[in-house]
Amino acid sequence: MLVERAYAKINLTLDVLRKRPDGYHEVDMVMQTVDLSDLIWMDVKESGIHLDSGASNIPLDDRNLAYVAAQKFLQTAQITSGVTITLEKNIPVAAGLAGGSSDAAAVLRGLNRLFDTGYSVDKLAEMGASIGSDVPFCVYGGSAVAKGRGEQLTRFRHNLKAWAIIVRPPIFVSTADVYGALTRDNMSEQPRSQQMVDALLRCDFEQVVGLVTNGLRPAAERLYPEVKEYADRLSSTIGQPVHMSGSGPTLFILTPTMRRAQRTYNAIRGFMKEVYLCRLI
Ligand code: ATP
Repeated sequence: MLVERAYAKINLTLDVLRKRPDGYHEVDMVMQTVDLSDLIWMDVKESGIHLDSGASNIPLDDRNLAYVAAQKFLQTAQITSGVTITLEKNIPVAAGLAGGSSDAAAVLRGLNRLFDTGYSVDKLAEMGASIGSDVPFCVYGGSAVAKGRGEQLTRFRHNLKAWAIIVRPPIFVSTADVYGALTRDNMSEQPRSQQMVDALLRCDFEQVVGLVTNGLRPAAERLYPEVKEYADRLSSTIGQPVHMSGSGPTLFILTPTMRRAQRTYNAIRGFMKEVYLCRLI
């Protein structure tokens, strides 16, 4: 039996460049891991894949990315025994935080250890790409520029100390619908990822905050006006810029110190139910 942590991500930049002939959108984004995590216990079982979770809002069959990852791993490694997977969900579901992708990545890492298969991290990331666009990033974690569908990664390391207060408004957002609602005006010819990487490498917090961008936000706010209402309310209450992660509805605020993060967290706790204080890792 072993346990793996599956960390959430936020997007520090997200530019949509164009729609591709295969239906996917070409993106350019800076992905950043935060220390909000699911916990995944894995053990060997005689046969089959048994997925279990206390969370009632996720499927436990082959619609769950953790399950798909186990299938993929066992098949690739030609392992005939089965596994039990127990998922403790702490990352909000369908929130733009890559919770499912991160669970899949953690299952790949965990089963590699459990069966002592010896696959490299790169091999696990390659396996992950067939499960979902965000899975390769989640296999590595940390910071990366992601291009293509999000699976082409250039990883980098920075030493900026920063915290994120993550707020999940109680709104259902469909990622497919948000992408579907993009107009030409929402596409970008000049992605900001390189400027963001430079600012992170310089540990320039103010510049990082000034560069945070999300090309999906106008479409998400058009489709779901409540996203904008929550963002405006948060921003006027705390007097700081409020950003959106992925296709939403999750919003986040960056702070340069733990003290400020705690103050912001306390201010928001009064009127929002789902608030998380995390560190960029
Ligand atoms: P992304 O940021 O990559 O778009 P997300 O954070 O918006 O992902 P998830 O939490 O991964 O979204 O959930 C999206 C959908 O995937 C949910 O509707 C859920 O039913 C399904 N899903 C499949 N596997 C999982 C999982 N392990 N955890 C959460 N949701 C999962």
